[in-house]
Amino acid sequence: MKRLILFLLPLWLFADAHIFVMHRVNDFRYPTTNISSKLLQKDIKYLLKNHYKIVKLSTLVNRIRHKQNIDKYVVFTIDDSFKSFYKNGLPVFIIYHIPFTLFVYTQATTEKYGDYMSWRQVKECQKYGELGVHSWAHPHLAMLGNKAIIKDTTKAIDAFKKYLGFVPDMYAYPYGEYNKRVKKIINKFFPIICNQNEGSVTLNTPLNDIDRIAITGDVNIAKKLKITHLNVKNLKIIRNKNTIKEISGYVNKPLINIYITKMGWRWVKVKNEFFDFKPNFTLKRYRNRIIIRYNNKIDTKLILKEK
Ligand SMILES: [Zn+2]
Repeated sequence: MKRLILFLLPLWLFADAHIFVMHRVNDFRYPTTNISSKLLQKDIKYLLKNHYKIVKLSTLVNRIRHKQNIDKYVVFTIDDSFKSFYKNGLPVFIIYHIPFTLFVYTQATTEKYGDYMSWRQVKECQKYGELGVHSWAHPHLAMLGNKAIIKDTTKAIDAFKKYLGFVPDMYAYPYGEYNKRVKKIINKFFPIICNQNEGSVTLNTPLNDIDRIAITGDVNIAKKLKITHLNVKNLKIIRNKNTIKEISGYVNKPLINIYITKMGWRWVKVKNEFFDFKPNFTLKRYRNRIIIRYNNKIDTKLILKEK
């Protein structure tokens, strides 16, 4: 019976959309956060030729809210409001009539930090895309107390009100860093929140925890578009302070690959759709990724080291 129902459902219900995040354009001093305008153009041409629909984040979010088809939908987001995007990225989006979503680092823009756009330039970007908030001071949010997180967020909101006369409903975490506590606070201000966990987006994606795929260097966008959600059910990550004790969950695959930053990949057997991996691994870095993978299907979680 279950199989019959699955058969009758339209195929697109299982399709994935992809949200990319980029930072600098043609700023080769910073290879880990830079993409060349040449590659960006090549990627956009590839997407258009292969009938992908490039939309703003708000368009994709509305489709998810209304459970409409999001197959082959792609969103470009830009974090940090760097001048190099304004100079070298914006013209590409204008030429191809491609919208985008720009997350503004509001203190840098307000206080005119050298590498960053002015509010006038941000406003110009808004003509061709849309805006979101990328904090006030670009802090490591998980390192701040609750009051400090609220203060930073309020300052960002006030800057938007003062310089553009409105407040976006979208937020992207600085450094993509967050935990449950951070998410709860930011969510009080913004219904739509982007992280930077590599993964696709489905109709089941929670709008306050949207995965994005970074595009930098010589990234192969065709390969990134193959990423889909593994959809691990009831995923549990048990930690004893900074030691990952156990990772368990339900997935309909015979064997999976699990990755932890600095531990590397491990094969994990799945029995009766259940897996239970006990790495007993002590985190080495502040920011760590746990990736659960089967071929191109991946689920990614971010784990921050505690003090
Ligand atoms: Zn940033």
